[in-house]
Amino acid sequence: MRARENARPGRRNEAVARPRTRARSEVELLLHHAVRLTQPPPRRRAVFRAPPAALVRPRRNPLRRNPIRAYRAGVDVDLVVPGLYHLRPDFGQAYLWLDGRSATLIDTGTVGSGPAITALLTELDVELDRIVLTHGHEDHVGSAAELRAATGAPVLAHAGDVAVIQGEQPRPDPVLLDWERPLFDSITPNVPPHPPCPVDQEIAEGDVLDFGGGARVLSIPGHTDGSIAIHLSRSRTLFTGDTIAHFGEVVLGTFNLDRAQAVESFRRLAELDTEVACFGHGEPITRNAGAELRAAAAKLND
Ligand SMILES: [Zn+2]
Ligand SMILES: [Zn+2]
Repeated sequence: MRARENARPGRRNEAVARPRTRARSEVELLLHHAVRLTQPPPRRRAVFRAPPAALVRPRRNPLRRNPIRAYRAGVDVDLVVPGLYHLRPDFGQAYLWLDGRSATLIDTGTVGSGPAITALLTELDVELDRIVLTHGHEDHVGSAAELRAATGAPVLAHAGDVAVIQGEQPRPDPVLLDWERPLFDSITPNVPPHPPCPVDQEIAEGDVLDFGGGARVLSIPGHTDGSIAIHLSRSRTLFTGDTIAHFGEVVLGTFNLDRAQAVESFRRLAELDTEVACFGHGEPITRNAGAELRAAAAKLND
């Protein structure tokens, strides 16, 4: 019933632009995650904010008929802007971009998120045409192998992380700042390793992928060697991967291989013309995100 209420036009703004949470420090947020991850996962109740009714024709909106069915496996989902969904498995995040019935998944969440994501594809009545991985960490690659097998969609990633994604090399340990170490030690044992996943297409700086009116690939090393961002110039939408996070405020992502390089990559992303920014961790920003990224970049130390 709640989902039906949310579908009313009067709730439209809430679905499109979610209220910002109280500003919390990155440490607070990560501690919150760390505590969560040391507990057995609660039975999650599916939460779904249905797309605004005014934006979706009834025949094209099967989610309104049964918004809960797709989410029994435990993935929350929000509409960020029309055609862009934010998926939140237990840890990690993913985004689904739609061009009509053609879907592109950006990251995949932890292992086991596949059934809920394929159920979502079915509910939306779309075909998954590609899976783009922003980098090789297990909270982003986790369900790539199962989704590739279930849908036949090719997996795209940068050469710098391909060996890790394919299970040919272990994930290199990040170079941790002192305050990051206890968080890393408490979080990582609770994020399951990803099953190796074949990469079907290596992507590199300057490539333009066939979705969103032309999706430009930016190579942004630092968090990992093969980290990428995706920028859709037509809709001014940016997917940052873990180079940038949004924990109440916009911050440099944690657990980087090379912090100085990650800072440089952050600054590069901040210069892009961006209205909507989607992060590897934290809530998307749906209005004038570029200004927030630039303000955050100005505060970064080298
Ligand atoms: Zn990462
Ligand atoms: Zn991550």
